[in-house]
Amino acid sequence: MAFLELTGVQKKFGKQFAVRDFNLEVQKGEFVSFLGGSGCGKTTTLRMIAGFELPTAGRIRIGDRDVSNVPPNRRRVGMVFQNYALFPNLNVVQNIAFGLKVAGVPVKTRLEQAGRLLDMVHLDGFQNRYPHQLSGGQQQRVALARALAIQPQVLLLDEPLSALDAKIRLKLRQEIRALQKELGITTIYVTHDQEEALSLSDRIVVMREGRIEQVGTPAQIYHDPASLFVASFIGTLNRLRAEVADPAAGRLAVAGQVIRTGGVFSRPKGEPVCVALRPERLSLERRNDDDNCLSGILSHVTLLGAIVRWSVRVGEQEIRIDTFNDPLLEMPPAGQTVRVYFPEAACRVMEDSEVA
Ligand code: ATP
Repeated sequence: MAFLELTGVQKKFGKQFAVRDFNLEVQKGEFVSFLGGSGCGKTTTLRMIAGFELPTAGRIRIGDRDVSNVPPNRRRVGMVFQNYALFPNLNVVQNIAFGLKVAGVPVKTRLEQAGRLLDMVHLDGFQNRYPHQLSGGQQQRVALARALAIQPQVLLLDEPLSALDAKIRLKLRQEIRALQKELGITTIYVTHDQEEALSLSDRIVVMREGRIEQVGTPAQIYHDPASLFVASFIGTLNRLRAEVADPAAGRLAVAGQVIRTGGVFSRPKGEPVCVALRPERLSLERRNDDDNCLSGILSHVTLLGAIVRWSVRVGEQEIRIDTFNDPLLEMPPAGQTVRVYFPEAACRVMEDSEVA
């Protein structure tokens, strides 16, 4: 049985839906991210799990308890917010031990536990400082320790790193994941940062306009997106306009050139579809005998450090290709005719309504 379960959860503010039809099962110890653009309902869903918002419909279960109507302080969830939300008049130890004090834990035990947590979040020696005497990263470590102090059943993190600079963000990201694994704590992490979601999560829930668009492991979401929306939201993507050439044989025409996709189509010959192709699956050299091939004109080449990005014009469309920056690589001049190769398996054909 899943440890955390949301069934038919819905939230309306006035007449507007913030979250609808939300069904999710999270296993004990799993790290799940809610990923999506601004206003898609990530925070509202998290706040419903925490109990700060009540669902308009649906149920939420944690462990063997239906917590749908249980107040936040009795749900045993720990929450970390983007803006740290520490108590400014309490020092580090007092902040961390706050929840334990409220729960009536004796002072000696409180201090022992706070000391252990200080150690865990690498803040030894900072116990007597006040929040304004700490950096953003240190404040967020305190917030994390405070959330963990109550030994929550579920840890909820709402964009905890987005106020921090890039270097600290990366470091804390790794620390959060290591700590989460060590404690085996079931965690929900809200972010709009795809790289964060891909690198941290066991599974990602991609959300759009209050609904779940796809749930999957990072690899599934990246390589096998369920829709054009997911494919475009995560990573860099070529979206090629094509038309069905042979529906039963899975053949398409891109700018008059036929490619094989390995699928079969419900749309008849001549209908538009979209082929989603990741730039790193394409190559300017044939790798396999049965690779697809599109001929085009090289329009420009950009060095991005470890990666070289090639732009090739095929008909009216620009295709991006990413290759490793091989020092022995010969760079053909722009304007030259080149061939772009890719396997059938790299093609994700989207027939959904968003295809123009
Ligand atoms: P962001 O990444 O910008 O924080 P989000 O995905 O977390 O976005 P939510 O904050 O959950 O999105 O908001 C979802 C929708 O619900 C938005 O349209 C928002 O305006 C609306 N909303 C959220 N809270 C309230 C509220 N208290 N009253 C009215 N509408 C709200």
